Order: sequence, then structure tokens, then C-alpha cells
Amino acid sequence: MSDEPFLVVEDLTVRFPTADGLVQAVTDLSYSVEMGKTLGIVGESGSGKSVSSMAVLGLHDARTARIDGSIRVGGKEVVGLSESKMRELRGNAVAMIFQDALAALHPFYKVGKQLTEAYLVHHPSATKREARARAIEMLERVGIPQPDQRIDQFPHQYSGGMRQRAMIAMGLINDPSLLIADEPTTALDVTVQAQILDLLQDLQREFNSAVILITHDLGVVAEMADDVLVMYGGRAVEYGPCTDILTHPEMPYTWGLLSSVPDVTADTSARMIPIPGNPPSLLSPPSGCSFHPRCLYRDKVPGDLCSTTLPALTPAGRGGDHVKRCHLPNPDAIYATEVLPEIAPELVKEMP
Ligand code: SF4
Repeated sequence: MSDEPFLVVEDLTVRFPTADGLVQAVTDLSYSVEMGKTLGIVGESGSGKSVSSMAVLGLHDARTARIDGSIRVGGKEVVGLSESKMRELRGNAVAMIFQDALAALHPFYKVGKQLTEAYLVHHPSATKREARARAIEMLERVGIPQPDQRIDQFPHQYSGGMRQRAMIAMGLINDPSLLIADEPTTALDVTVQAQILDLLQDLQREFNSAVILITHDLGVVAEMADDVLVMYGGRAVEYGPCTDILTHPEMPYTWGLLSSVPDVTADTSARMIPIPGNPPSLLSPPSGCSFHPRCLYRDKVPGDLCSTTLPALTPAGRGGDHVKRCHLPNPDAIYATEVLPEIAPELVKEMP
């Protein structure tokens, strides 16, 4: 067995031909996730974070999506895999939990039926009794009270937090090695959000699975992730260990995401600053650095480099595995003197 991480994505490109032209949803994306580790993929809507993760699960329709590059799950190439092979992989080696549990759970079927069917698809020799016992065990593990009774209820009889727990139970019922959680707590209030994130962390430790956490919130990433991938306009713009990126971010878009993290514990001098402007068009992305129309720091780069030349992913100043896509000279110094004093310092202080 090779030593490569459980999930390896290399030069992934996902495009959708449309009547208006080619939508370049993901371009030349590379990352990896080891067993027992969490990768946070962060970016605004349309940054490519969900589209790239759906490619890992083979959820794109081959008739409408053009996928190039390589995705290896447990050493096995999945780009170009048949739908039946992909279905085998989904729910078995890889599972996904979605943002909206109410939409993901079928309203007509009892929670127990949905859980047992998810189990039986991948364990055809198991009996219904065994599948039901497994479903009750999973509901108990995710903290559903009285699971032997709750199993016979419909999704609408669960609270929002309980539905999210039930969906996590469904994602984990076949012991997947890779769990992709797409904005798993966005629809929940803050207290339930914290409980669900704690639960995900506990379950990851128990199952030693690799986790991809897709979010627009760097605060959630700070709590959960070992590594962070920041995406903008379908590309990786900063990638590396979570501690490095949250304490020494080098790309102005990451600074913008950090500035827009609401921190209720921050003192009054700390400000929440939204990123100006809108995400780029994926049909006709801006020339050069696709963030340049919104970037407040491009005048610190000599000439018109930002608007004409796409920056390569290059090692960040402090070395290690941290890389960034930006032409800015001395970004660490600019961050320390101009950005950090403006934003919530608590987030940084909390980091180990
Ligand atoms: Fe801003 Fe230029 Fe860096 Fe892009 S390359 S983030 S426009 S400074």
C-alpha cells in the first residue's frame, strides 16, 4: 500500500459548457487529506469549493460537466470511473453531509428507514434487524435521545439540530474513510452549531476518518481544521497548515475573509470589515489575478502586474507547506502593520 494521503486531488479542472460559454468552475486545483485530518475549504459562494468536492464524490453529470485532472481516493483513480463503481464508493469509502438536512432527508420516509436503507445498500448480506440495530446505534452515537423510539419518527418530527445529527449518522453509518461536510452548521443557531462541530470532532477521532469541511467561515475552520485551502474564482489562492494561515496569512483575499469573521467576544476596537465588490464571473474571469478588481492592496504591487499576470502558487515567506497566489512583496509585514490592527485580534490570540 502506498504512503500517499487518503485523498489526493491533482490539477483538477471542472468546466460546464453553457449556451453563454464555458463556465470555469474549478481550475488546476491540487490538495490532499490524510486519514484522521481535517481540511477546511473556505471561500465565498461560487469560489469552487462545493463543485470541487462534488467531483470527489462523482456527483457531476458526465453529460454536462468536463472534468480533467486526477482524484485518487485510497489510491484509486476516480476521474472517469463508471457511475456504478462511483456509487459503490459513495457512502462506503466516501460520504457527504449537506447544509440542509431537511432537503437531504426524504420527508415521506421515517428516519430509521432512510438509515437502514443506506446501510443495506452497502451491506447486502445484513438482515433488516441488523440494519435497524446499526441505525439505532448510530443515532445514539450522534446524541439523539431515545434512539429506539426516535428511529420510527419522520424528519419533520425532529428539531433542526436533531435532523443535522441524523444526517451525520447517515453519513457515518457505513464507516466512510472520507467525510465531506458542506456547510454542515450554516442553517443552525449558534449553540446547536457548536454542538454539531464538537460532535463531528468527536466522531472523527473515533472513526479516524479524513474530513473535508466546506465553509465560508474562517471562524469554524479555526476550531476544526488541520489544514486550510482558500479558494477564489475556482482556484486555490492560499493553502497550508491552519495555524500558519490564520496567524500569518499572505493573500489579501484571506485577509478579507478574516476581517469578515464576526467575533462576539471581540473588544469594541475590533471591526468586522466586509470584502468590497462581488465574486468574479466564472464565464469571463478578470485578467491577471482574479481578485484584482476587489483588492485594496494592488497599488503596492509594481506596474500593472496584478491586472495582467496570474500569480503562481508560491511558497509563503515563512516556508513550510504554506503557499499563496499573490504578487505582493512583503505581505507578512503589510498584514502585521496594516491589516491586523483593524480586525479582531482575538481570533489570532486564540490560536496555539
Ligand atoms: Fe491583490 Fe495583486 Fe495579490 Fe491579487 S496579486 S491579491 S490583486 S496584491
